[in-house]
Amino acid sequence: MADSVWDGMFPKLLYEEIVSHARSVYPEECCGLVAGDSDGRPIKVLPMTNIYHSPTRYQMDPKEQFRIQKDLRSEHLELWAIYHSHPATEPFPSQTDIRLAFYPDLFYLLTSLRDTPPPLRCFRIRDGKVSEVPLTLSDRARP
Ligand SMILES: [Zn+2]
Repeated sequence: MADSVWDGMFPKLLYEEIVSHARSVYPEECCGLVAGDSDGRPIKVLPMTNIYHSPTRYQMDPKEQFRIQKDLRSEHLELWAIYHSHPATEPFPSQTDIRLAFYPDLFYLLTSLRDTPPPLRCFRIRDGKVSEVPLTLSDRARP
């Protein structure tokens, strides 16, 4: 699914949800999932708990993650991306992020509260290699 053609358009509404999640747990990192429809377009932000409650690393709550993935299946949605925030550093995957990137078919979204307005960048992380995927914020609420 994640390899289907995505036009790089990301709804501004979802961006705002990610940024407000990041702000609400600052100075800790926030993390969560983005669900996509069957055409591989992002349509829903699912904030998760960072069980580390740390400003430099994150781990999603496995129980929450399991429940959400079950919900997604019943809604015919798919996992599209994993997002997290860097409270004070650039929105680029850290060495730890790269080491712990176990989903080559998902996008990795990163925002940073260091910059205003907070940027949102999109990456693939495969075999320890990071490649950026162009992302454009779109005014469409839904694709
Ligand atoms: Zn990170």
